[in-house]
Amino acid sequence: MDKDLIRGDLVTATEVIPFHLLFEDDELVEWGKGPGPSGLTTYHGDIHPAPVNLHSHIGDRFIGKIRKKMSVEELVAPPNGYKHQRLREASDLEKRQGMETAIREMAQAGITKAIDFREGGVHGTELLHQTLENMTYDEFKLMPGGSLTRMSIFGRPSECQFDKEEMEALAPMVNGIGISGIGDWDLCELTTLCKWAKSKDLPFAIHASEAEREDIDEILSLGPSMLIHLNKATEDDLLAVKEAGVPVVICPSSTDYFKLGTNFVKMTELGMDVGWGSDNAMFGGLTYCMGGAMETILLQHTHGEEKLPDGRSIDDIVYNNTFHYSQKIISSFEVTPRPTDLDFDHVIAVSQHTGFGATDWPGPKRLWRHGPRKVNMMIYGIDIKTLLE
Ligand SMILES: [Zn+2]
Repeated sequence: MDKDLIRGDLVTATEVIPFHLLFEDDELVEWGKGPGPSGLTTYHGDIHPAPVNLHSHIGDRFIGKIRKKMSVEELVAPPNGYKHQRLREASDLEKRQGMETAIREMAQAGITKAIDFREGGVHGTELLHQTLENMTYDEFKLMPGGSLTRMSIFGRPSECQFDKEEMEALAPMVNGIGISGIGDWDLCELTTLCKWAKSKDLPFAIHASEAEREDIDEILSLGPSMLIHLNKATEDDLLAVKEAGVPVVICPSSTDYFKLGTNFVKMTELGMDVGWGSDNAMFGGLTYCMGGAMETILLQHTHGEEKLPDGRSIDDIVYNNTFHYSQKIISSFEVTPRPTDLDFDHVIAVSQHTGFGATDWPGPKRLWRHGPRKVNMMIYGIDIKTLLE
């Protein structure tokens, strides 16, 4: 019988605990605080909930990584931004293949759930459903992670206007509504859309103050379930968001591309939790938000200081927000069910710090070869809380 031990930190929402996991023939048989038994083959890995991606647009994955520098307006603003032109020109097959690649990339990085903002109205949403139907569970079982990323689909109308017939057709296909920004809409029209979403019990999320400050009172009056970016929000704006209890998601890969900066430090100083998203797949950061890249960006914001004024370290915040806060947020939204889903609500990941290369691990079905956080193993059906009981 092969026995292997993993030692590392178990990272909960409130503390970091030295921990061990003991495997016998690739099955988890024992766990607990402290170093565990000695004299066994030992690997180093940290234990945390599985990562999630709170904000993606995988529909532009077919474009590949965008290298030319463009402004928010030039690149992503509907209807004539570069991305929207490319979306109009591309075939359905191209778009589906791109989305398939994106979902594979997330699955390989250990991301168990993602909220995707789907463009293109009913047809755009259909394309993602077709993509998911095309990706069989068996295919994923053969992948390093042995599983797939479940998608929560936030659809939107094909034009920036409320068309009841279109929205009634869209409603059964989506888990929520995701809008580009208040500036692209007539406020009355957008208010009608929000009221309609509420009547359907559909959460409503919107990009806000991404490249320029927008009126936070107007945005909050729509009753959003989640706000994306808030890069240019003032401290008063952030306090209003905090007071309203609306979750915030920042997207370092897109703010880095546009050189916009995030409001991360101010948000943490105000005691706000922040979730991570990758934003557009064409920034090449589908899994970036889970990685060391996040820490690098945050260190730029703090001018290299690893400690924040409240005494917490950047690393603690990245861990907490990546693995605990983002999980909490995503669990408040539905995901599109798939008949073969495993119990994703109870899954922990073990990620490498040092000395435990994916190829060294004897249990191939559970290996992750990729992923910036180097998630090497997912253990299904186990909640972190269970480990501590
Ligand atoms: Zn976005």
